[in-house]
Amino acid sequence: MFKKNEERKGLLFVVSGPSGVGKGTVIKELMQRDPLLCLSISMTSRSRRPNEVDGKDYFFVSESEFLEHIEKDNLLEWAKVHGNYYGTPKDYVLKKLSENNDVILEIDTRGASKIKSLYPDAILIFIVPPRWCDLRLRLETRSSENFDEIKRRLSRSIEEIEEYFIYDYIIVNNSVIEAASELECIIVAQRARRERR
Ligand code: 5GP
Repeated sequence: MFKKNEERKGLLFVVSGPSGVGKGTVIKELMQRDPLLCLSISMTSRSRRPNEVDGKDYFFVSESEFLEHIEKDNLLEWAKVHGNYYGTPKDYVLKKLSENNDVILEIDTRGASKIKSLYPDAILIFIVPPRWCDLRLRLETRSSENFDEIKRRLSRSIEEIEEYFIYDYIIVNNSVIEAASELECIIVAQRARRERR
């Protein structure tokens, strides 16, 4: 039997991938195609880049403010990534899911594994580059990180790629349009699953 609307909950999608793989661009393309998807905006203690907007790209807070949010249990998950804190605000995600909206999180592999332990039904998607050297090239050309930061991000990428086995789906980002289409297909297929009916 089909479940009544009020018994249904939204789906939780988690997208991860090494720094420089272009996951933000792929998600942006997806959001244009599926405006009903709710993208969670993370909180971070990292400094804002010149092209970033507070409340749109991230909620930028100081390290002490971030620690206060951890203390108050305001975050669904959090991790220290590349030396800065990042976390998923709890209220937004729980509210959207309870209203039967599908939510997407763009978080690192440690955050993804925490989400999987909290929500075993969460669907985990990992985006990889076609070639390893593409990561370095992309990080160098976007010029938002200095040399040391690029080195740090590339070495963390190796650890992240080794954690691919916790993910349900792997997408190779050959082109933004194709990768967004694959992501869209995964979402459509998950929405149609029999167990949700
Ligand atoms: P960036 O500094 O390049 O924006 O992000 C660095 C890393 O932090 C990326 O791997 C990104 O997925 C991850 N990240 C962003 N938001 C969150 C979050 O809320 N939680 C966790 N665990 N990681 C996040």
